[in-house]
Amino acid sequence: MNTTEYMQQELQTLKEHSNLRLLPQLTHEGRTVVADGRRMLNLSSNDYLGLAADRRLREEFLQNLTPDNFLPTSSSSRLLTGNFGIYEELETELATLFGTETALVLNSGYHANMGILPAVSDAQTLILADKLVHASIIDGIRLSTARYIRFRHNDLAQLERLLEQHHTTYRQLIIVTESIFSMDGDQADLTALVRLKKKYPNVLLYVDEAHAFGVKGARGLGCAEETGCIRDIDFLVGTFGKAAASAGAYIACCHTIREYLVNRMRTLIFTTALPPTSIAWTLFIVRKLAGMQDRREHLARIGRTLREALQAKGYGCPSASHIVPLIIGPSADTVLCAELLQRHGFYALPVRPPTVSEGTSRIRFSLTADITEQEIEEMIKYI
Ligand code: PMP
Repeated sequence: MNTTEYMQQELQTLKEHSNLRLLPQLTHEGRTVVADGRRMLNLSSNDYLGLAADRRLREEFLQNLTPDNFLPTSSSSRLLTGNFGIYEELETELATLFGTETALVLNSGYHANMGILPAVSDAQTLILADKLVHASIIDGIRLSTARYIRFRHNDLAQLERLLEQHHTTYRQLIIVTESIFSMDGDQADLTALVRLKKKYPNVLLYVDEAHAFGVKGARGLGCAEETGCIRDIDFLVGTFGKAAASAGAYIACCHTIREYLVNRMRTLIFTTALPPTSIAWTLFIVRKLAGMQDRREHLARIGRTLREALQAKGYGCPSASHIVPLIIGPSADTVLCAELLQRHGFYALPVRPPTVSEGTSRIRFSLTADITEQEIEEMIKYI
């Protein structure tokens, strides 16, 4: 069997198990999408604050744009000629907001997670990662030369046992978690994690706030802001591709870690930096996040409404946030449920293995602040 025949056979197997993925053909119109000629409310976007759908924001940003400052490429890595001043402006803004020594902007959350762990770890490092961390973190761990153990999801008793058992064997141990988990929408107990890490001098904490940046905290800085532990987290990572309606990512950290990353992080060193105009848009949005408390409160409210409605229908719902899974189990049933919702004007998507573990296929509702309570209540009727 040649390569393409082998691939076709594998794809056929995926199809038979209802796990074949296709790139959706979509047109975006504000908070709705049009697919197959049908307009649907988008319940699957990571535009959590509804900023990407907000035309007025784009108009405001465009007012200051001219052919001289519209820079669609940086043409180079930041370490060569790509380090435009706007990068450092954004990093200074982030460090000021977070109250950290410094910050470093990266090309995406994927680049961040795939690059930081390999850069800062070695064979004398043990990484202890939550079982449900995102694929980009897993890839970062795989690229590193560290040893790693994945602890049961949010099981801090197991984590404590592992720390106790291994802390004298390794030069450093790095606990890795997300603050809001991407598929279950539940949260890590950051206060308890900080308490644990502080018991040992050689334990560091890495937190991915991809789904919390913009959404949580009084100024939208994430769960670490909400729980008052920003400066206790050694690697505080987040993305601009979700609530901040842009692209790119950050790490808020100390000077030494930043300098080390600039020297060692391959996904920073060997890639063309994001376009300066993209960074300018991020900075424009980041400066507005603190003033968006009403959007955050509304998002929290509709998240609660949806979770309670699913529970009232007998579905177990692990979520504590605006990411709300409707866990159905078999992929085929999940696909049918998504199709039913789409027929009624709600663009909800199935998430299937390998993104989630076998037998836990789900509809992943990913709510945005421009969805109304009434729309949630209307949608729930079809579940
Ligand atoms: N971390 C987590 C927890 C994520 O869910 C994602 C994206 N789904 C990423 C990182 C990757 O971020 P980006 O989209 O900016 O590459």
